[in-house]
Amino acid sequence: MTCPHCREDARCKGLRGRAALTLLGALRFERHYYHCRHCGRGSSPLDQALGLTAGDLSPAAEEVVCLAGVQASFAEAASRTLSRLAGLRVSESTAQRATEAAGGRVEKAQAAGQTFGPAQPWAWHKDADGCTVGYLSADATGVGQQGPAPGQGAEGRMAYVGMIYNPVPADRQRWADPHGRRPAWQARYVAQLQPLAALSEPLRRQGGQVGLDQAQRWIALSDGGELPARGGGDLGLLPRGGVFERVGQGLAPRPGGGGASLADVVVPAPQAGGGPGGVGGLAGLGPEGAAPGGTPEV
Ligand SMILES: [Zn+2]
Repeated sequence: MTCPHCREDARCKGLRGRAALTLLGALRFERHYYHCRHCGRGSSPLDQALGLTAGDLSPAAEEVVCLAGVQASFAEAASRTLSRLAGLRVSESTAQRATEAAGGRVEKAQAAGQTFGPAQPWAWHKDADGCTVGYLSADATGVGQQGPAPGQGAEGRMAYVGMIYNPVPADRQRWADPHGRRPAWQARYVAQLQPLAALSEPLRRQGGQVGLDQAQRWIALSDGGELPARGGGDLGLLPRGGVFERVGQGLAPRPGGGGASLADVVVPAPQAGGGPGGVGGLAGLGPEGAAPGGTPEV
């Protein structure tokens, strides 16, 4: 066969054993193993066909391990969550390695400008005035850190989470299609450990991917005075708690918007010709420069 590493000819060396942990339990099997004399590397086509990577987790098991790995500590994922929920027995280091590798892939994809989920404009639901509305929010959440030694604490870090969403109104008449089937709630999340201002670009791309610019109104919600305003006039993303409204292709604080809840927010439609520009981080949420949506596997 053709060597996948250097495209030269690789020779079959017979059957070799391999182990894999799957959602159905541990498997041992044999598959053909090929060795390439040109680059000195080995390969097994079946591994590729099964999606097996260097670790011993099948793709589905890896996904479950990563889901558990982001819920709490890797130790808890390994010792409790995975065995109870899925009957999977993995070591703490396996949970850590798989989860951190997945995080690294997401980070790379985000830095490369990729967006997540299918690239398709959403059918935005309407507010009480009959205008379509797209929602945005940003929040910070503390992520506990482990110290170098077991049981040794370390200072936590703040992860910023941005969201673009299309909540389904209770009143059917305000659905995008009042005569259709009950729609599912739609949301896109972007999270990272970067400074708050760095959230705006990936969030803008996600907005472009789901057609946020096509919503007649935008409502942006954040809960917190704890999101610090940055110096040098850079306001960052939703720097103050409260409600922001769409002004042209940006966002501006809505007068008196502080402390409002989702239920009592009505944002005026954007004026023709735009207004006094948007708030720092989220300015330019519209379609200009929006990256074509990709759908990376994460
Ligand atoms: Zn080769």
